[in-house]
This record gives sequence, C-alpha cells and structure tokens, in this order.
Amino acid sequence: MLDTLKAILAENDIEINENQIKRIDAFYELLMEKNRVMDLTNITEPREVALRHMADSLFLLKCADFGGKKVADIGTGAGFPGMPLLMYDENLEITMVDSTGKRIDFINDTMGKIGNCGKAQAITARAEDLGVDKKHREKYDLVTSRAVAPMNILAELTLPLLKVGGKFLAMKSANEEGEKELNDALFAIKTLGGKVVRSIDYQLAADCPKRRIVIIEKVKNTADQYPRKYAKIKSKPLGSK
Ligand code: SAH
Repeated sequence: MLDTLKAILAENDIEINENQIKRIDAFYELLMEKNRVMDLTNITEPREVALRHMADSLFLLKCADFGGKKVADIGTGAGFPGMPLLMYDENLEITMVDSTGKRIDFINDTMGKIGNCGKAQAITARAEDLGVDKKHREKYDLVTSRAVAPMNILAELTLPLLKVGGKFLAMKSANEEGEKELNDALFAIKTLGGKVVRSIDYQLAADCPKRRIVIIEKVKNTADQYPRKYAKIKSKPLGSK
C-alpha cells in the first residue's frame, strides 16, 4: 500500500514525510482490521486502497489550501476523504459527519488510537440537520464530500454549511454523467448561494476511473428556507420539474 501511495503522490507533486506516512499506515491497518467485522469498504486490495482511497483523498490538497481552515467532510463513511487529510495534517480542524453512527464510532476509535487529532471531531448527524443548526450553519471555510448524492441534492446538504467566501470541493466522476449531473444542479447551486468556479480532472493510474473535483464557491448567504427536510430535498431537488 505505502509504496504505491508514495509513488502516486510523488507523481502528483504532493510532498509527504515519514510521520505522515506512518499515520496513514496506522489508519490503513485499523481500517482493514475493522473491515473484517464491519462493512466499511469494498476496496481492500493494498494497491487499490492506496489509489482509490488514500491518494484520491489527498489529491484535494492540490485543489485548495487546507492550512488553518475549518473543514467539514459530509457523508464521510469510513473517513474519506477526511481521515487521509487528517493523517496528513494533524492540526487540521475537521468535522467528519455521517448519519451512520457505527462508521463515526470507528473514526472516533481510530483517532483515539492514532492520537494527535486534537482539532478534529467525528459526529453522527445528518448534513441537512447541521445546515439549520447555528453551531454549524455558515461556519466552515471548506466542505468536502465524496460519493454521497447527486449534485442537485448534495448542494443543499453542503452549501448551507459554508461561510461566504468558502469553498465546496465535490469529488465526482469525470464523465458524461458527471457533466449532466452538474448541469442539472446549476439552478440548485445558484439558489443556495454558490457558484461553480473550477473543475479539476485527474486520473491516478491508467486502470483508475477518471475523477473530477468540482469547486463551488459560496458567493452569497443561503436563504433561511434551505436546507429543507431530507424527504423534500430528495423528492424535489431544487431545479427539478
Ligand atoms: N465519503 C465516503 C463514504 C461514501 S458512502 C467515501 O467516499 O468512501 C455515503 C455516506 O454518506 C454513507 O456513509 C451515508 O451514511 C452518508 N450519508 C448519506 N446521506 C447523508 C446525509 N444526509 N447526512 C450525513 N451523511 C449522509
């Protein structure tokens, strides 16, 4: 796992030191151990974990400056992309959020075992509930999310959490479907106070899917009526007929 990871990061000009590597390895070992008794990930082959989980998460470092930022990772699951980012930067002020308590328990256990995760937290919550909670609404500089929902729905889960000037880094597929998905979400993004500023495409290896980070900047406060309840967000995504 580590040799592949080091090689891919070097190819992509992402610097990493031995301490960071040690932390990522510790996370990897704990993930594989827990995955034997709990469904955390289907990706278990070491090279695949290096590419599709660790390097894919760390690629975000090329898309935004995370230093000193307040970050939320929405629908983090077993901790992607949040945990690799936190293993990379032990001072990262990140809130990892998932509606499934067992996955959040795993992340909290793992942070406790690895240590030096002082500014990070993992909480069991629904994103749309945090979006109406004063402690979380418009409090974040950066929001990340991978494999959680189509963009028109995802925008309503994430954009309310961002401060004006903050950025949402949506980890998506770089294919026609991804383009359609983004097109279908433009109305929602605008309605929620966002603006697409850039897309960054990458492919970590020839046998890996092409990926895209869509960067959406929060340019205006989100109106009070958003986010709506999840049933509503899902049955009538903003912009749908
Ligand atoms: N980001 C991880 C996990 C993706 S699976 C990865 O890329 O590997 C999607 C996760 O999103 C699940 O763990 C699910 O519980 C969570 N999720 C879905 N809708 C959510 C919501 N509204 N609020 C919080 N978490 C949500």
